[in-house]
Amino acid sequence: MAENCIFCQIAAGEIPAEKMYEDDRMLAIKDLNPAAPCHVLLLPKEHSSNILEAGGDIVGYMVGKLPEITRKLGIDETGFRFVANTGSDGGQTVGHLHFHLLGGRSLGWPPG
Ligand code: 5GP
Ligand code: ZN
Repeated sequence: MAENCIFCQIAAGEIPAEKMYEDDRMLAIKDLNPAAPCHVLLLPKEHSSNILEAGGDIVGYMVGKLPEITRKLGIDETGFRFVANTGSDGGQTVGHLHFHLLGGRSLGWPPG
């Protein structure tokens, strides 16, 4: 557990979050400030700072859960965006790997 990491604290149950999915390795929680009707964050329970540091094993594991999670959220057929903001140009504000899962409306492209 990384010190002062809000997502580590959420994973440890020290900060509440609305959980949409949970298993021994990862969580899917509702984003506190949703940018779409469905905005969920997928995060590993074990801390890593970003997708470069995380390694393919956990990233592959989380991607592998997408069919189940998107079905549960009701966005598997309408579609979604799955994105890992990384570093300052990527707009990452929380230094614990997380994927944004956005859906429930038509999302523009390219992002602003
Ligand atoms: P980033 O900017 O790092 O790509 O994404 C961080 C996301 O985490 C933002 O969309 C922000 O709304 C969300 N967020 C920040 N703090 C919390 C929190 O305490 N709980 C939840 N559920 N989401 C949070
Ligand atoms: Zn962390």
